[in-house]
Amino acid sequence: MIPEPTETELSFLTWHHPSSGIFINPVTLERYCPLDNGRLKRCTFSSCGTSSNQLGAFSSIPVEISYSILEILDIQSLTACRAINWYFRSLVDELLPYKSIFKDCPEVLRALLSTKSASNFTIRQIYETLCSQACSECGQFAPFLDLFTGCRNCFPCILKSPNLRALPKSTLEKRLGRRIPSETLLTVPGEYAQIGRRYKQRYRLVRLSQSMIEELQGDPHDGFAKDQYRYMPMMRVPVLGMISGGEIERGRCCQACHLGPREEIEGYQDWNTSYSRSGYLEHFKVCKMAQIARAALPQYIKPSEEISRSAKYQFQGFISDYRFKVLFSQSF
Ligand SMILES: [Zn+2]
Ligand SMILES: [Zn+2]
Repeated sequence: MIPEPTETELSFLTWHHPSSGIFINPVTLERYCPLDNGRLKRCTFSSCGTSSNQLGAFSSIPVEISYSILEILDIQSLTACRAINWYFRSLVDELLPYKSIFKDCPEVLRALLSTKSASNFTIRQIYETLCSQACSECGQFAPFLDLFTGCRNCFPCILKSPNLRALPKSTLEKRLGRRIPSETLLTVPGEYAQIGRRYKQRYRLVRLSQSMIEELQGDPHDGFAKDQYRYMPMMRVPVLGMISGGEIERGRCCQACHLGPREEIEGYQDWNTSYSRSGYLEHFKVCKMAQIARAALPQYIKPSEEISRSAKYQFQGFISDYRFKVLFSQSF
């Protein structure tokens, strides 16, 4: 039986999809959509001193019932509630799903508010999605949140699924020659789809239904990497409550499948496939290139030294070279 890779070995054997350049960038959101949480003077609802006259019907409701009511409000309304007074602000801030999302992924609140999709979901719906890990399209581990649906998706589905296509509303209406009543999502300026282009404009995107796709005939954005509108509603998110290697789980991909030979018979999987820590360990058992790379790791990990970025680059070079050796030997 092959021993499990250690955390240090895993840091060499796996890689993460970057948050910037492909999807909604959390750094941009932090800069342009600041949240006031924690920035104003702290006040708990037991000590805020708000007169019960200002609470309306809420003054006679037990706190537990108030929480239940707030959980079924959409997030836009919940945010408006926070602005009523200190009592409501502290009540919302103490609401478990809200508190948990703000603590571990405040960028989700920023993205929902910025894209105007906050009114489509309750905080409980988004919390449950963030606590889950399966792609709504294929069931695989999925590190991305689709702000159109509030569901998770994996990278291969974002890239290829016919259900995740979108177009700007103005473009769609022009091409169809009629008005579209569909819900829209306001995009966040930034770089998307790894094509090195910055989109300064904010688009009102529409998610294309099957009937719209049939009506369009010859949609120029027929899937694949250069369709920036597939990426604009997507954001990389963690799995709440899942800790792996001392950190919250955000998914990881196999470096051997990314850079090594692509022989399915040797356990190769789509190199964009993400795994939880335990999912990767299962993949490792069948990924021959990952096992070969792991056996070579002692050359790159020196027990007495800190792991340098250059050691990781050299290790990645080893896997790439191995791929070319295999290709070269096959061509003769
Ligand atoms: Zn999927
Ligand atoms: Zn692999």
